[in-house]
Amino acid sequence: MENENDRRCDECGKEIKHRSVHLRNPDGDPGRLLCLECYNREMAAIADVKFEHPTFPTVLLTDVDGEEHRFDFAVQLFGYQVSIEAYELEVEHGYRFEIGGNPEEVQKLFNKLLGKMRRGLSRKHIDVDEFGGMPGMLDEMAARGWVEWDDESDGQLPLLVIDGKPVTWDQFGRILASYEGWQFKLEIMERTDEV
Ligand SMILES: [Zn+2]
Repeated sequence: MENENDRRCDECGKEIKHRSVHLRNPDGDPGRLLCLECYNREMAAIADVKFEHPTFPTVLLTDVDGEEHRFDFAVQLFGYQVSIEAYELEVEHGYRFEIGGNPEEVQKLFNKLLGKMRRGLSRKHIDVDEFGGMPGMLDEMAARGWVEWDDESDGQLPLLVIDGKPVTWDQFGRILASYEGWQFKLEIMERTDEV
């Protein structure tokens, strides 16, 4: 899945707003860039599943600090599974939530995803005000987030997104350094799992 700007779907010609799939051929052919609706239609035919590509409206949610976050949704079929990803509009490293399940229950999955998003926005993990000084974790003493590519380190170090904000590996290291002598537990979970 790629982020593309000013691109059009090679199948239906519609402008691709955010998410697309680039189908590449191994022989160096440029392949085809498809909007998710066209991709899902082809995938449904290949997998022989009945799938109606849904269009979900932009959703506005408020976090625990009263800040507003606007989300769009990307629906992608992976054979017998469908995933719905919620991503923040106009925010490069913002909140992301994903859910996966049965393509025939896509509306039910969307409702579950909304619950996951509300739960995610209802808690904070890091005391951002302390960045620059001694950073700290909030009461729960846990961090939940998403691992992203960090251009600054050319991908050598991860960029973490916690509380819908980018936290560099260095910043996260400073947070951990303030708990010298404590134990920790690090778990990597699938994108669609509930953290
Ligand atoms: Zn298309």
